[in-house]
Amino acid sequence: MGLETGKCDVLGVDYGVGTHAGILSAIARSAEELASGLGWPGGVNSLLESLGRATGVSRVWIFQTVKLTSSHITQNYTFEWASDPKYKQIGMSMFNMFTTSIDQPEYRDMVQSRKQGGWQKVVTEQLSDGWLRDYLVGQNIKSMLTLPVMVEGAWWGTLGFDDCERDYDWSDEEISLLRTAGYLISNAVLTDRLSAKRKQFSILKEITDSHAWSYDFNSGQVWCSQELIHSVPMPMDGILLSLHEALRMIHPNDRRPFIKAVRDYVEGREEGLRQDVRVYSDCGEARWMEFIGNLRKDSKGQPEQLAGIAVDITARKEDEARLLAEASTDPLTGVTNRREFERLFQHHFEEARQNNSSFALLLVDIDYFKGLNDKFGHTVGDNVLWYFTEICGSILRSQDVIARLGGDEFAILLPDVMLKTARNIGERIRRYVVSKPYSTEGRRVFMTVSVGVALCCSNYASTEEVMQSADKALYSAKKSGRNCLVSTADPQYIEGGF
Ligand code: GH3
Ligand code: MG
Repeated sequence: MGLETGKCDVLGVDYGVGTHAGILSAIARSAEELASGLGWPGGVNSLLESLGRATGVSRVWIFQTVKLTSSHITQNYTFEWASDPKYKQIGMSMFNMFTTSIDQPEYRDMVQSRKQGGWQKVVTEQLSDGWLRDYLVGQNIKSMLTLPVMVEGAWWGTLGFDDCERDYDWSDEEISLLRTAGYLISNAVLTDRLSAKRKQFSILKEITDSHAWSYDFNSGQVWCSQELIHSVPMPMDGILLSLHEALRMIHPNDRRPFIKAVRDYVEGREEGLRQDVRVYSDCGEARWMEFIGNLRKDSKGQPEQLAGIAVDITARKEDEARLLAEASTDPLTGVTNRREFERLFQHHFEEARQNNSSFALLLVDIDYFKGLNDKFGHTVGDNVLWYFTEICGSILRSQDVIARLGGDEFAILLPDVMLKTARNIGERIRRYVVSKPYSTEGRRVFMTVSVGVALCCSNYASTEEVMQSADKALYSAKKSGRNCLVSTADPQYIEGGF
């Protein structure tokens, strides 16, 4: 015979009611529907129907355990199939989120058995008088089989088979087969939980631009969603990395603070984990991520898993950096503003004291700038101010600082220099300004500057004193005819200037 093919769901075999093959076939059909068809909860109704028809019972139902305490149980009648409308119970108020006391010994045994994953069967006729018999007779149930639905090791609910017509004694083989149906339901519940979690996470991800990550203390492995590292999506859910590999994805400057933050949290010195780090993508681009984590411990109190999300905060960090830069720079020229200059000045002053070193302060003021504004207009005046800082930028070293103190007055800090070098640099600026006038629309804007120089070593008690000396030197330069440089050591320096 050659190759034969066909669809499983149209095999059309009728095994008859109550046969093992019939039950097995019903389970197989339902497994397919739960896995690939209707899923949860639609597929459960058809599972109950298939099982009901294959076993020939009056009713198949599922109770969900909502709450369980040592004395009470709250359940909800969530699914049902009935062979005849008269056997329908779902929707009855007595089964809608109902709470039962577990004080009856028979019921206590039943709950105990279900909690441990066991099955229960009963033929009402064979029961001695008591609560259970009354309960079953009250519902016209002649025989019953119940199987627990266990999800993640806990009793999630009960799958029940009521027979209102037969005193049916379920065989071990049948119980064994039907147990599989209980696991199918467990699986459907788990899949549903997982997809609900996925959905929640994808909403969270969309809102916060975040990625999931976790660290397993036992295996020492890090898992993260692939978008955290891959710049181009790959056909995979997540990436597994060794701790070493994962740390290498973090910017070197951020590694130590991150490890410290994790240790502080895991060892109980900090209440939570929230740390900003730069993470490299696979193409080498660094993005700012805020890592938020939560620690899970095992039953012995040992750290088991650290898991959380990483929120992309690159845009926020860029905004912060921009605001910081704006707060410390002069908007017209882009150089340091007065406030930031005062902070840096103080810093250099203290450093020079500590290291017994010296630094120079140069004050530079454009000569007759009012007249320049009047002649060329305020806009050209603005451009000249910017042009002057460009000149200084081309002459100064990277460690030097140029700041606009206001109007046409600038301050220059030259760390680790002696007076001679400071004078040389000041002179270079002065000469450059004279020799390379700013030009606009074919016109050249000639200008000059005056420079005052003070050298700060151990001779000054405060930044204010240094500033006063440099100011007097600048005043002396102006007095000496402008377009010149005067230092506090020069004969032109006028001590009591003002
Ligand atoms: P001196 O040689 O004595 O320094 O004479 P000066 O004309 O430069 O006098 P002063 O330094 O006192 O005047 C500064 C002028 O700079 C006053 C003001 O009109 C102008 N100014 C201040 N801020 C700005 C600015 O942002 N843009 C422009 N274009 N001009 C400004
Ligand atoms: Mg001026």
